Amino acid sequence: MADALPLVIAGAGIGGLTAALALSRAGRRTIVLEQADRLAEVGAGIQLSPNASRILDALDLGLALDRHAVTPDWLKVHSVRAGGEVLRMPLGRGIEQRYGAPYRVIHRADLLDALATAAQTDRNVEIRLGTRLRRAEAAPGRISIEARTPTGPATIEAAALIGADGVRSRVRTHVLGGPLARYSGRTAYRAVVPIGQIPAEHRRSTGLWMGPHGHLVHYPLHGGETFNLVAVIESDWEDDGWSVPATRREVLDAFASWPQAARDLLALPQDWTKWALCGVDPDFAWVGGHVAVLGDAAHAMLPFAAQGGAMAIEDAAVLAAHLADPAADIAMALAAYEAERKPRAKAVVELARTNGRIYHLPDALAFLRDAGMRIAGADRLAARQDWIWRWRPPAETLSKSGGAKSAGGLRRSG
Ligand SMILES: Cc1cc2nc3c(=O)[nH]c(=O)nc-3n(C[C@H](O)[C@H](O)[C@H](O)COP(=O)(O)OP(=O)(O)OC[C@H]3O[C@@H](n4cnc5c(N)ncnc54)[C@H](O)[C@@H]3O)c2cc1C
Repeated sequence: MADALPLVIAGAGIGGLTAALALSRAGRRTIVLEQADRLAEVGAGIQLSPNASRILDALDLGLALDRHAVTPDWLKVHSVRAGGEVLRMPLGRGIEQRYGAPYRVIHRADLLDALATAAQTDRNVEIRLGTRLRRAEAAPGRISIEARTPTGPATIEAAALIGADGVRSRVRTHVLGGPLARYSGRTAYRAVVPIGQIPAEHRRSTGLWMGPHGHLVHYPLHGGETFNLVAVIESDWEDDGWSVPATRREVLDAFASWPQAARDLLALPQDWTKWALCGVDPDFAWVGGHVAVLGDAAHAMLPFAAQGGAMAIEDAAVLAAHLADPAADIAMALAAYEAERKPRAKAVVELARTNGRIYHLPDALAFLRDAGMRIAGADRLAARQDWIWRWRPPAETLSKSGGAKSAGGLRRSG
């Protein structure tokens, strides 16, 4: 009986763990395979807009997140051409009141810790660390998954396989025959510094600096104790590997023509990490029979709308909604998930691309952009986000108590 089998999720990142928790609420048992020996996220922040926060709150993670998160007072938009701020939009209590969920900024490790802690105490979820999915084959009414575990190869029988295995997803490329990830021509430098080094005017805000062929984003983390910097440039990628250490000199050289106030921020971190920003064209079949992909595996996007993680979280909620009926035909439920999610994911991928073009306009056009932004004002900027932020998961999806508090958990497999 395929339905007595667990669902297997490949990848214990933001998308995979949210999916496991949402599926538990839907009464589904999952095994989460994670290739890493321990659950860890990159040392950087993430912005969680109300559409993502709403789902995490519904999964009862709000308190855990709010121990570490900050809700910034403002989004302050600066222009290199204008030499300073052109616009500010409120992000604080007004946004929470309007959307029923806060705009949070949080260190990725704190987000992952909240998700993992909930998953480890959920009897419907089992996380197997050090376990890498190798391949999967369809059998009648089920999927047979081959994995490399710390003690050798293993085969796991599942009712379905959910690939939440990130931008270089093996489920996408090897199981579904989907496309390879492609370098976007954009590189991101990331660093976190103590907040004490940051001028007071930036400490409670998300900041965006738009410049010719680059931009800078910053916001507070760790309840306001540290400060996250992400500096993006257009460049080729010539390093081995997709994330490598970078120096202060390299970053300052890349932003040599920027205003002193921005360069003062960029001069703070001694060490940076440099990331190749890669994308996945979402126009491929996300589902094949009892296999589906979600999150970056399905639609890795430029981070210029701050929505990649949020879309992974939304995917998880919708997937769970389609699998909530125990009598549901799994292949049909997965097909319905794809049909529901793909148009929205594609629209957000496109918005992120457009944002990149707007942020990086050369000086001549930046003048018009800045003037237009000033005239349009904060309300227009807020209206541009509204269709993303007001999104709600299907009714009742996450309302059940699920499999809380029991012996479920985390183990190295083998
Ligand atoms: C610079 C930058 C800034 C960003 N800022 C934001 C932001 O502010 N807001 C936002 O919402 N998003 C943001 N994003 C996007 C966000 O980080 C991603 O969309 C999100 O992390 C995707 O989550 P995921 O779970 O799909 O994939 P991942 O987080 O990549 O997780 C995939 C997991 O799968 C595991 N795995 C891979 N292959 C296998 C295998 N074969 N077997 C078992 N396990 C496997 C990996 O080890 C990993 O743990 C940003 C991205 C970047 C690069």
